[in-house]
Amino acid sequence: MADLVVRSRRVTTPDGERAAAVVVEGGTIAAVLPYDAVVQAAQDIDLGDTALLPGLVDTHVHVNEPGRTEWEGFATATRAAAAGGVTTIIDMPLNSLPPTVTTAALKIKQAAAAGQCHVDVGFWGGAIPGNAADLPGLHADGVFGFKSFLADSGVPEFPPVDAGQLAEAMNAVDALFVIHAEDPDHLREAASSAAYADFLDSRPQDAEHAAVGTAIAVARAAGRRAHILHLSAASALPLIARARAEGVRVTAETCPHYLTLDAAVIPDGATEFKCCPPIRDAENADRLWEALADGLITCVVSDHSPCTPDLKRQDTGDFAAAWGGIASVQLGLPVIWTAAAERGHTLADVVKWMARRPADLVGLRNKGRIMVGADADLVAFEPDREFVVDVHALHHRNPVTPYAGKVLRGVVRTTWLRGSVVTGDNAGGKFLAREI
Ligand SMILES: [Zn+2]
Repeated sequence: MADLVVRSRRVTTPDGERAAAVVVEGGTIAAVLPYDAVVQAAQDIDLGDTALLPGLVDTHVHVNEPGRTEWEGFATATRAAAAGGVTTIIDMPLNSLPPTVTTAALKIKQAAAAGQCHVDVGFWGGAIPGNAADLPGLHADGVFGFKSFLADSGVPEFPPVDAGQLAEAMNAVDALFVIHAEDPDHLREAASSAAYADFLDSRPQDAEHAAVGTAIAVARAAGRRAHILHLSAASALPLIARARAEGVRVTAETCPHYLTLDAAVIPDGATEFKCCPPIRDAENADRLWEALADGLITCVVSDHSPCTPDLKRQDTGDFAAAWGGIASVQLGLPVIWTAAAERGHTLADVVKWMARRPADLVGLRNKGRIMVGADADLVAFEPDREFVVDVHALHHRNPVTPYAGKVLRGVVRTTWLRGSVVTGDNAGGKFLAREI
């Protein structure tokens, strides 16, 4: 007898959407059968026209615990993730203290997270100047790869690398390198201002273009995989296309804010829109959507990077002084679905960008897909229901997000992690390690 069967007329499988019954045994998907198949199961749920998606995989989340838990912690971040249909997150190595740049630091972070995660959690390591010797050990301990910054990270304990230091890191370990690609030589110090345009001018597309070129050149020479994080500048897309055509193993992701928000209409003082690289204009966003549609950009991830309202300078609205980071892990699915549907994309496209491809990026072949043998991470999603974002109703620790007050399409009704409903009281998430 099976533990659970979930039936829906809209099950998103790797082959597209169809009516099906998903049978769960021991936390994994045991069978995908016709919608009305007879199954002996302890629990039989019929969602009807509510869609059934695989749990999303968000490979770009800053949890900030320990050390800056007042910005966001494991309990709040993973509860928000589950409420947003995300069942796997990979935590970034910086903004927590210590940053995850040694095996000792990884153990401290895992000890801080233990017992309070509502979804499955994996970890990135960090490659900073001087820690190349630490990278093989961190990789052996299961981090999914290494993050580096080519420009200032915003925190002093995670300094940027130059091209030579990135090469040193890549030569130290055969791993996936994920790169914040802005070139400091093209960035200007932003003057104190409540006008978004002043901040945007300080971080031009050229900065991303140059840094993407650096990352590609170093990856090419070292023969390593490079993944460009949170690509905002569409001007860098041809560089990535050319490198891929030449056999360089380079991929890129973008984020809901770069795809759906428009620099031209960001209100004065609205620092909840500040992030690095910055949100650009609507024409740029159109080109990012095209790259997503043709597969040049492979994934959409949140880059959930919250902080406290005072660090966002919500009092003064000064873009130069505000912390850069967008809080959105709970909202990525409806934000992207709302915009994707308007552009004629399907729910299967959204699942490909936000579940299967991010899982593939980090080698989690049993996540992000409704398929026999995969983890039974499932999401009941009402694609046609609208809601207004109430920032105080989100599970994010701090009530700050640029999506506050927006009308979005798509409501997560239930989230299952390995076959169990995530209620918010049960912390059933486990630590994931890179599959070797
Ligand atoms: Zn980030």
